[in-house]
Formats: sequence, structure tokens, C-alpha cells
Amino acid sequence: MEQCVSEVHKFLFDGLPVRGVLVRLTDAWVEILRRRASSGASGAYPLPVQNLLGEMVAAATLMQSNIKFNGSLILQVFGDGPVKLAVVEVMPNFGVRATATVLGEVAPEATLSAMVNVNNEGKCAITLDPQTRFPGQQPYQGVVPLFDDEHEKLEKLSDVLEHYMLQSEQLDTTLVLAADGEVAAGLLIQRLPMAGSGNLAGSMVSQENEDEIGVNEHYNRIAILASTLKREELLTLDVDTILRRLFWEESITRFEPLTGDEAPHFSCTCSRERVSNMILGLGVAEAESIIAERGDIEVGCEFCGIKYHFDPIDAAQIFLPKEGMVPPGSGVQ
Ligand SMILES: [Zn+2]
Repeated sequence: MEQCVSEVHKFLFDGLPVRGVLVRLTDAWVEILRRRASSGASGAYPLPVQNLLGEMVAAATLMQSNIKFNGSLILQVFGDGPVKLAVVEVMPNFGVRATATVLGEVAPEATLSAMVNVNNEGKCAITLDPQTRFPGQQPYQGVVPLFDDEHEKLEKLSDVLEHYMLQSEQLDTTLVLAADGEVAAGLLIQRLPMAGSGNLAGSMVSQENEDEIGVNEHYNRIAILASTLKREELLTLDVDTILRRLFWEESITRFEPLTGDEAPHFSCTCSRERVSNMILGLGVAEAESIIAERGDIEVGCEFCGIKYHFDPIDAAQIFLPKEGMVPPGSGVQ
């Protein structure tokens, strides 16, 4: 077994309504990039796309570790520039997968808006998909544009997500995100709601909480310290060193870190059954026309690179009633 070395560290500021999380994804992130680079169809990401996707991986891991919720957290950016889609999914067990669709030239120094918000139509979506859904239950999704309240384009993913947290959860949040070809890392500092005895599973919307937005002196002081963290420090320093350097004057209680088997790791939830259902969704006519054109149906997973292959007999099986009483041969030839 390969040693899992990605980490999640949570901490509280003693006696203050402020908490934090620091994540460092190493092996999990490298595996995501390796699978992409070895895919013949697409090849490695341009550098700015790699770094954006890495920041998204770090942010989604931070958010998954910061909520009480048993399901997948999916962070998506829908772009109107050369990057059409970037998506990260973090499962409840911290299985992580990510992919981006690039359909144009990305300059080496491309900004966030040059990649995904050329015409002000880029969007960022956060979806919480419960592990077990009630019949008819839809996943929760929040969507934010990629500009601020003054309609200036945002150039940092962290700014987009801070804006989202304030709007959706009414909580002051500071995020520092960074990624390169080896590490995807992030620091989250959040003000805890004053009301509700710290029970984050309940509603956080209260007058008492709203009155605190932006004005809690403890949160503001700690947020300023957090925002002095440099990209290079976040990427290269270990967690102990980062926390000591930033918060040496504060009293912090740290929780047992998630490491080893519990730590973030690469994992893909694709399966032959899911791909079969997708082909079923295309309809028999579409499936038959693909078979007629190429002799088989091949579907590659964008996340992990696995290719699912369906020959004409496999494809015909997909459209048979599940009870299997209809004789074969009546479908695709
Ligand atoms: Zn897959």
C-alpha cells in the first residue's frame, strides 16, 4: 500500500468564537494530475488551470471538513472562457476526484477571469449531495457569480468562496489557497456563530449572529494574521510551522489530525453500471447510431481515465428490460 500523506488539521482559538482548518493534499493531488497527464485524449493541464484546480481541491476539502453533513461536496466552476468546466468532488470519507475541461488556448499567466469569466458569465456552484436521499429529494446547490458587490471581476478563487460563505452561511470566512504540481493546500479561518451554543448542525441565521458580521474584533485580528500567509509558505511549510508562525500570540486547541486512511485520497466513484445508465439515458436510437458508426461504444471517465467498453451485445443488454424475459437480438445489431 502506498503511504497516504495528505493531511487535514482542525483547530479552535481558545475562548474565542473562531475556528480554523488547514489542509495539505500531496499524494492525492499528484495522483489527480498524473491520471490527467497520462490520458492520451487531453494530456496535462496548462499551468494556470492546474493551479486553479488545485486551489479548488484544497477549498472543497476545507469545506467538507468544516460542515456536519454526510454526503459529497461538489465544487464547480462553469466558465465562459477557454476553461468550460472545473469540478472537484470530496466524498464523506475524503475520497477526492477532480477534472477540468479546457477548450481553448490558456496563456501561461492567465488570470481567473481570463480562464473562466471572460464575458461575466462564469459561475461557481457548491453542491451538497446527501449520501442517502429521500424519494424526490434534490441535492442542495448554491451558485455565485465571479464578481463582487461592486461588479468588479474577482481574480482569486478564495474571494469568490469567501463571498459565498458570507451570503449562504452568514459567516465571516478567510481563505488562503495555493497549489502547484505537487501540493494543493489551504487555510480556512471562520467566525463561529455567537448564538446556538455552537451547534453548527442547526440554523445559523440569527439576529445576534448577523450583528457580528464583520465586526468581531477577535475574528478580525485572527483573519488579518491568516491573510499574511504567503503562497510559498503554504506550499512548502509543515502545518506546525505555519500555525506557530501565524498565531504564536494566540492560544490554540488542535484536534487529532486526519491522516493515514482517514486522510484525503484519490478515489473515483465511476462504475460500469453508472455508464450503462448514462447510455440508457441516451436512448436506443442514439446508441444504435454510435454502434453503426464505430462498431462499439467506448466511454472514458473524465476523472480517473478508465475506459468502459461496450460491444454491440453489451450495448443491446443495456436496453433489455431488467427482468430479462425479452429474447436477445431484438435490440441493437
Ligand atoms: Zn472514474
